[in-house]
Amino acid sequence: MKLMIPDHIRAISPYVPGKPLEELEREYGIRDSIKLASNENPLGPSPRALEAIGRGLSSLHRYPDGAGHDLIQKIARVNDLAPENVVIGNGSDDIIAMLVQALIRPGNRVVVPQPSFLMYDIAATAAGAVVDRVPLDGLGMDLEAMADRVTDDTRLIFVCNPNNPTGTVITRTAFDNFMARLPNHVVVVVDEAYIEFAKNADCLKTGIPADLTRPLVTLRTFSKAYGLAGLRVGYGIMPAELAGMLHRVRQPFNVNSLAQAAALAALDDRDFLLRSIRLVHDGLERLYAELDRLGLVYFKTESNFFLIDVGQPADELFEKMLRQGVIVRSMRSYGYPHYIRINVGLEEENRRFVQALETVL
Ligand code: PMP
Repeated sequence: MKLMIPDHIRAISPYVPGKPLEELEREYGIRDSIKLASNENPLGPSPRALEAIGRGLSSLHRYPDGAGHDLIQKIARVNDLAPENVVIGNGSDDIIAMLVQALIRPGNRVVVPQPSFLMYDIAATAAGAVVDRVPLDGLGMDLEAMADRVTDDTRLIFVCNPNNPTGTVITRTAFDNFMARLPNHVVVVVDEAYIEFAKNADCLKTGIPADLTRPLVTLRTFSKAYGLAGLRVGYGIMPAELAGMLHRVRQPFNVNSLAQAAALAALDDRDFLLRSIRLVHDGLERLYAELDRLGLVYFKTESNFFLIDVGQPADELFEKMLRQGVIVRSMRSYGYPHYIRINVGLEEENRRFVQALETVL
């Protein structure tokens, strides 16, 4: 049987996220490997989140609260917003999917930076949009060039701040100028998956506008600084009218009960959050010093990951590092054939990474 798959779906290259540790250990027959490839939190989840998950286990026969009442209230309170402006999702990936579902008809256009987080492109393409890919300017987003690409058919623009995989941020001034240029029919999505780690004084600290009727969506996630990637929970802040549209298209129980309980508890654990951020900042300083010692070129980041020029094909270095039990991410498919991306791990993991790198260079 020949399936009738539309051409635009066949044209999508499969997104290959970092493989789970267990899979790599199985494939390569290695043990005690470390993974610095998916920008996860090496500290694990907050102990308070773990306790909340424990308490939630006895209710697993029940459906979750489909409206996510408590979590949405809390997110609204923490960010000083109304609950009507908040939508929660099965990871921020889910919010991206809902946005294209609610806003895109085939033939509409979506502007994305490139390279950046791949799901913008994949979700928009799957919805039948024409994707306008705007190259970075060096390693930073070129907001002016992105605004230049807007047409009457443009419905969405994705801005990733800090940008994955380059770790760069945009300034408040550049963002304000960009917003001033955009017509009202374009919804801007500012993805702040890693914003907790940014410390540049001029950086746009959040895209959340004072006026929440502007066509602007801010995405946040519990997967990174909050250490809950495996539970899949993120949220979007947006005008109430748009939130209402997302509620129409989303799955009725899109965030599971353990994820809701854990995210609520994680928001209460400020100490853990600060510890996670400090670990990243301290780890970065040490890693930079080690890479300087090795004479390698790398790019300072505002996030928990950064790019290193390894001076050889990154796919080959990835394989060699794997045999040393260290999983990194090759950036070849992002258009950087000699770069790898690593995230900051625990001190011991960072040390093992540097040792392994020294042996394979
Ligand atoms: N945005 C960016 C920039 C990311 O790097 C990621 C995860 N890799 C996501 C969004 C999605 O995160 P999640 O679905 O886990 O919330």
